[in-house]
Amino acid sequence: MPSFSVVTFGCQMNVHDSERIEEVLQRAGYGRTEEVKGADVVVLNTCSVREKAEQKLRSEVGRLGVLKRSRPELLIAVAGCVAQQEGERLTKSMPQIDVVIGPDNIPQLPELLASAQHGSPAQVRTVFDHDRPTFLAASPEPGQGNVSTFVTTMKGCDERCTFCVVPYTRGSERYRPSSEILAEIERLVAAGTKEITLLGQTVDSYRDPERALPAAPLAGEGVSRWGRRNANPDDETEFPALLRAIADRVPQLLRLRYTSPHPRHLTPALVEAHKDLKVLPRHVHMPVQSGSDEVLKRMGRRYTRAEYVERVSMLVQSVPGLTLSTDIIVGFPGETEEQFQQTLGLLEQIGFVGVFGFKYSQRPFTPALKLADDVSEADKSDRLTRLLDAAETIRGRHLATLVGTTQAVLVEGRSKTGAFTGRTERNEITHFGCSDDPTGELVPLVVRRALKHSLIGDMADERRRRDYDAVVEPRPAPRSLPVVAG
Ligand code: SF4
Repeated sequence: MPSFSVVTFGCQMNVHDSERIEEVLQRAGYGRTEEVKGADVVVLNTCSVREKAEQKLRSEVGRLGVLKRSRPELLIAVAGCVAQQEGERLTKSMPQIDVVIGPDNIPQLPELLASAQHGSPAQVRTVFDHDRPTFLAASPEPGQGNVSTFVTTMKGCDERCTFCVVPYTRGSERYRPSSEILAEIERLVAAGTKEITLLGQTVDSYRDPERALPAAPLAGEGVSRWGRRNANPDDETEFPALLRAIADRVPQLLRLRYTSPHPRHLTPALVEAHKDLKVLPRHVHMPVQSGSDEVLKRMGRRYTRAEYVERVSMLVQSVPGLTLSTDIIVGFPGETEEQFQQTLGLLEQIGFVGVFGFKYSQRPFTPALKLADDVSEADKSDRLTRLLDAAETIRGRHLATLVGTTQAVLVEGRSKTGAFTGRTERNEITHFGCSDDPTGELVPLVVRRALKHSLIGDMADERRRRDYDAVVEPRPAPRSLPVVAG
């Protein structure tokens, strides 16, 4: 049986696509191996959101090229956003590559590999499925479902954030029929999955192509309910209705998360869904990108700082204890020190418990290429350091408040240290010891210690309690495995 290995770069969407690539290849008779060196086919699933990931692809192909000289039968396939963006240019600049495949063409990967195997020239397929969108679904055997997994609800993006290459690499928005989404979630939960994260580039822009969802409470009221009269009717979507349908149809599901939303779709109907649905955890990741109105405008984000604050404040007020995390870009063209200070001020104002910070880098085909990339690399690095320091201080304060409290933790499994690991409702990673294997259970834990980015807890049930410090093992030496790289 020929073997394959998938190496994943980038975001959760890519992790999800990699799982689908693995399923497609397994169905075609390939066997999965963790060992890139021994695989007959290596698929590099790429990301082009940041420059670094693209450079990693080039060095990875270089390394595989050396391997290919001693094993000419090795096939190298490049998938994901860089594949979509560069297409044939990749095979011209890196002749070691045998197949280039876009995110919408994954089902055709086995046939392209077969052609390449039979000596055809490099195969390139990067066609968007705009006419007939398809969504690859997971189909785990009973008992084989991951504790926590992703379900795609839409793909592509109709926003035009000026820094972002995604509308170019993933195409315009396509939504998955609600019946398909519900059926996949039912299957996953029947197979043992406890937590689902709905996945889409602008996940909360969802509109059901089947028009099968009943209107959600407060749908159509727009943010005018909160006093503003100029709300854009486009902000209203069927995402709150989808959340309600999932909660209704799959009551055994323990947690339902989503990523990544766009703030303009955080409407009263979505806030109401958070208020009503116990399955929605009290944590939301809501990208803001900057705390300066001038920068937000240049980024094309379609909201002001005040509008963002208004929307998330309504959410926090309606769901006491809800925490927020966010994405921020520093050093966007024209960002002054004062504008960066406004971003730091927003961090404190909102109290984000998690911040994914990035330095701006020019991406191909993006509107921001027209703006001069005029913040020096040194200033970008300095601002990123200050941003992450500020975020860490806020996070540290938050985690410290949890010491002594009892938190419900969904156990994901044993970590490399030998202890068990899971997440609280508010997504805090928690490590603990247990006398048996509680993987997949929702267990109450008493938080004993706060670390920099995570918590240490004890099982509330003393009969199952094992001291965390007594169970941790020294970390094993790093192995050469497929990696997920940001
Ligand atoms: S919303 Fe903006 S940042 Fe997000 S994928 Fe679309 S264009 Fe990119």
